[in-house]
Amino acid sequence: MRHYNIPIFIPELACPHRCVFCNQSYITGQSIIPKCVDIQNIITQYLSTIPSVDSVVQVAFFGGSFTGLPLDVQRNYLQAALQTAQDRIDGIRISTRPDYITPEIVKMLVENGVTHVELGAQSMDAEVLKLANRGHEPYHVIVASQIILDAGLVLGLQMMIGLPEDTRDKALNTAEQIVKLGAKETRIYPTLVIRDTALANWWKQGRYKPLSLDEAVDLSATLCNYFNQNQVTVLRTGLYPSEDLNNGSGFLAGPFHPNFNELVMSLIWRLRFEKIVKPSPIVNEVFLAANKLNHAIGFKKSNKQYFNQKNIIVNFSMDNQLKGDDFYVDYR
Ligand code: SF4
Repeated sequence: MRHYNIPIFIPELACPHRCVFCNQSYITGQSIIPKCVDIQNIITQYLSTIPSVDSVVQVAFFGGSFTGLPLDVQRNYLQAALQTAQDRIDGIRISTRPDYITPEIVKMLVENGVTHVELGAQSMDAEVLKLANRGHEPYHVIVASQIILDAGLVLGLQMMIGLPEDTRDKALNTAEQIVKLGAKETRIYPTLVIRDTALANWWKQGRYKPLSLDEAVDLSATLCNYFNQNQVTVLRTGLYPSEDLNNGSGFLAGPFHPNFNELVMSLIWRLRFEKIVKPSPIVNEVFLAANKLNHAIGFKKSNKQYFNQKNIIVNFSMDNQLKGDDFYVDYR
């Protein structure tokens, strides 16, 4: 089964907040608010490219805070998705803020086909949330998570790394809380300095220093390993590169890389191999599932080159019997 998401971006339409890092139109690359007919067109267009067998399809409303929209707008959007493709989609995913969740809202979501709710928790540290001007506290995440789980929905808790006054320990503690709160999914977003935000001013004044790319990749890899060990699926590390981020017009500083997720996966695999590979003249023949091969070899073959430079010979091969992250090494 292959998983397909049909992404629909809702810019900060409903959001009266101004988190210090956020300028949604730069981050999503979109500032036009979709109409129901737009949603239906997007879904129809995506579905025409998705095979009708062996596929799991979800419509995913990303961007702003879905449940901050007026209830009738939320309902209309969800109904637009259901009416277009109820027989083809396996669920609807929304993302929102923790303080925009109530039992009544969640009831409406369930009645209109939502199966997964992702909350932008960002941090479970009160000071970090305050400085980020999030407008909510850790307890909002705790209360909202319980409401979502009580309604039988799949809970996702997104986190950010590198926010002002955040530390590695605080990030690890946030990850621990995410696991304890019963999340089944997460996303890890490194903080970037985006034009026209409060963070951009702080950065210009020297009051904020973003994580380096290496620091962000390293911390993300540690967090991914922790989440994997605790059966929380990491759906994504790094922002989706919008045109504004890619061409640099919205991006000022921070650990942005168009292939951030690949860098993280490459590091995770490199650290796994590092513990068991043996130096030349032994040849380390690593076998893995086909879909893990690229990450194991590394972004732009970085892992292969890394071991070569250390005089360690590593070859990578597929073994179709292997599933998930399983692998073995033949020493020759
Ligand atoms: S709540 Fe979300 S959309 Fe609103 S300012 Fe913060 S990050 Fe942006």
